[in-house]
Amino acid sequence: MKRDKSTELLKAAQKVIPGGVDSPVRAFRAVGGEPPFIARGEGAYLWDADGNRYTDYVLSWGPLILGHAQPAVVEALAEAVARGTSYGAPTALETELAELVIEMVPSVEMVRFVNSGTEATMTALRLARAYTGRHKIVKFEGCYHGHADLLLVQAGSGVATLGLPDSPGVPPGATQDTLNAPFNDLAAVDRLFERFPEAIAAVIIEPVAGNMGVVPPADGFLGGLRELTLAHGVLLIFDEVMTGFRVALGGAQELYGIDPDLTTLGKVIGGGLPVGVYAGKREIMETVAPAGPMYQAGTLSGNPLAMTAGLITLKELRRPGVFQEIVAQTERLCRGIGLAAEKAGVPIYQTQVGTMFCTYFTEGPVTNYAGAKISDTAAFGRFFQAMLEAGVYLAPSQFEAGFTSTAHTVKVIDATVEAAQRAFCRV
Ligand SMILES: *Cc1c(COP(=O)(O)O)cnc(C)c1O
Repeated sequence: MKRDKSTELLKAAQKVIPGGVDSPVRAFRAVGGEPPFIARGEGAYLWDADGNRYTDYVLSWGPLILGHAQPAVVEALAEAVARGTSYGAPTALETELAELVIEMVPSVEMVRFVNSGTEATMTALRLARAYTGRHKIVKFEGCYHGHADLLLVQAGSGVATLGLPDSPGVPPGATQDTLNAPFNDLAAVDRLFERFPEAIAAVIIEPVAGNMGVVPPADGFLGGLRELTLAHGVLLIFDEVMTGFRVALGGAQELYGIDPDLTTLGKVIGGGLPVGVYAGKREIMETVAPAGPMYQAGTLSGNPLAMTAGLITLKELRRPGVFQEIVAQTERLCRGIGLAAEKAGVPIYQTQVGTMFCTYFTEGPVTNYAGAKISDTAAFGRFFQAMLEAGVYLAPSQFEAGFTSTAHTVKVIDATVEAAQRAFCRV
């Protein structure tokens, strides 16, 4: 596959943009090689600047659950753009989308729109601190909640590791109230609660972890977390920026029957445009200005184009059978990949929840970040490159989730499985 134009474009980009990209994983550092520069997307496919076609399992890192340039979305956006791109004043669209979110996501009673997942989680934590009057937060190793200072901590392993910043530029003061526990380890959370009584404002979690591959919650883990947080007056925040409208129409909270206090959303809810949401119980949400004292604002928040794309996307997704069909195709894909690996004698461990999936290059099981990190990332890199050459665009890291869409039909999936059969032989 020739990618001369992409190489040229990367060189030009690197002169004016750090690393040539606006988000680090896009640079392919984890797998080597150079990223194709994308010119166009349609349905399940991307085309790069050299005209090569790829079947896309990244889907802009999750948002495009209807595929690229879905006709209903394109049409609604074309109509909306003609009415102006932003007003900085309230619109009926925001109420309509808020009502739809409340209808679909079980725990949510009130919604505030922002512009990214990062903004949503950062603000949800400010809200939890404002509402409880406490400062400490608990997160889980390997869970990603955006790039806000207070959340850029994974710290080493260990049961009650105190937060040390992951990035230069994050002052220790910003993370001194961030506590870490291993994913799926309820006893570790319990120990933190014992150690810091009356000090913890919230536990924030990806209910299905999607930023260390895909790690489902162990039986009883989320329910146990709900009981423990209630017993200690700690708010439970489900970061469903990735899992919302992806693991089930009502997110992980619907799938596992858990009632969190606050929920963050992003990705799918913007239908490919920048939208984030923090949402939850009315009593807590009314702490937000101007209803209450906690400040948060945004010039482009509730942007009419973004609201339009989100509305159409969710409405299409809710049509009878649509979501179930994407899940069925995701299962078909995982079955096919599993058989292909077995035939080639490559040990893998697969996880799949709804329309999210991951193929770990390890025997597994993978239940937390430490387990995920055992994966053979070099083998993953070889598989990734072989798939890319075959025209299949996977996330360029072992520790990212794969995504499917309504455009990933049986035909598309089966072609990918065939490519995987050949790729595993080159691992
Ligand atoms: C992607 C993601 C975020 C950050 O969202 P951005 O829109 O990239 O800022 C936060 N939390 C989770 C779980 C995510 O997957």
